[in-house]
Amino acid sequence: MQAWKDYQSANKDRFLEELLELLRIPSISARSEHKKDMVACAEKVKERLLQAGAGKAEIYSTDGHPVVYAEKITDPSKPTVLVYGHYDVQPADPLELWHSGPFEPVIKDGKIFARGACDDKGQFYMHVKALETMVQTNTLPTNIKFCIEGEEEVGSPNLAKFVASHKDLLKADVILISDTAMISMDTPSIDIGVRGLSYIEVEVTGPNRDLHSGVYGGAVANPITMLAKMIASCHDENNHITIPGFYDNVVESTAAERKLMAEAPYNEAEYKKDLGIKSLWGEKGYTTNERTGIRPTLELNGIWGGYTGEGAKTVLPSKAFAKISARLVPNQSAKKITEKLLNYFTSIAPEGVTVKASEHHGGEPYMTPIDSKAYKAAAKAIKATFGKDPIPVRGGGSIPICSLFEKELGVKIVFMGFGLDSDNLHSPNEKYDIVNFYKGIETIPYFHQYFADMK
Ligand SMILES: [Zn+2]
Repeated sequence: MQAWKDYQSANKDRFLEELLELLRIPSISARSEHKKDMVACAEKVKERLLQAGAGKAEIYSTDGHPVVYAEKITDPSKPTVLVYGHYDVQPADPLELWHSGPFEPVIKDGKIFARGACDDKGQFYMHVKALETMVQTNTLPTNIKFCIEGEEEVGSPNLAKFVASHKDLLKADVILISDTAMISMDTPSIDIGVRGLSYIEVEVTGPNRDLHSGVYGGAVANPITMLAKMIASCHDENNHITIPGFYDNVVESTAAERKLMAEAPYNEAEYKKDLGIKSLWGEKGYTTNERTGIRPTLELNGIWGGYTGEGAKTVLPSKAFAKISARLVPNQSAKKITEKLLNYFTSIAPEGVTVKASEHHGGEPYMTPIDSKAYKAAAKAIKATFGKDPIPVRGGGSIPICSLFEKELGVKIVFMGFGLDSDNLHSPNEKYDIVNFYKGIETIPYFHQYFADMK
């Protein structure tokens, strides 16, 4: 569509400037000291949606951070697309590993470096600019609704209540999410599933105070040693997870699906080089793509205890802690796996220490069918702008609200992600390639067009 292209190329510098402005707001949902920034960011998103042509935009407060809702209803008889995204970001630590300030976006080598550049400000903002494009060129073929929340990075604890109490407001024919990655710009792909998540925290307590390791060491169980042993017992020699019942409900992928996955380009040498590692690790019997897509995993996210300051301090600590999470695949249940993890850690507590295990947020795995109209519209849109059919892939990450949306709103989700796995999501130096940002803005109007045509 020439009108879209002309409008976008005439305004592309402004589109980028606007994104940079959004990235300057440190909307870290996990940190209470950023509560004001969260509100400021929600206000900014609302303002931008109105400027882009939304007929209505509102901020809904929740028990946590606010949700921004907006809509452009052109004709109730036309199909409605609900865009979901999130304006909150992960904490930026460790700050010393950033080459530039996480909330002072810089552009280098055609990439935007900032926390939230890709996850998810850069990605949801493509939809705002796609809306503007279609409104300004008088070509919007659908009704669009936006639900941009502020708690995705902390597990969306208040979104379920919001969705359940605003079903009519959010009513749509499809939910469109840009919060995932593509294989590469040369090999476009569409995620057809995301993994679920269970997350627990373990606290191991030994003596009632930190002890002199020379006076007591050797006679008292060290909580860090005990915790390390418990953690080490979670995988066997084949790197299978040993938690009883962990794999009970895992749907094994068919040979056909595994064959299709194997066709995605993958260069092991490059993969290792990029990460700076000499060899890979993982569950025996599965390839790297399978380990990060169709198989459940268990990871340590943090471990601490004792003395971690500068220099040496000979201490036998009173406590040790770990944060542990599992990525889940269909048909594992986050609730059941969380229970199994909690039980496992409390049941294997060695004598001499006490173990407390508690639950953080979780989410169910989600799969979307590739024969739906919405999926076909997304595939066709990507073909229109990338010149190639996208490969359907299973993503390794988690978007906890997916199963909730489907349950409450009764519609399927389509993932149209334009990020790359190398975007350093949740890591220092998060980036988003400017060309991906523009490509997304260019592709999204095609989705609306094709989806409307197919109805
Ligand atoms: Zn995200």
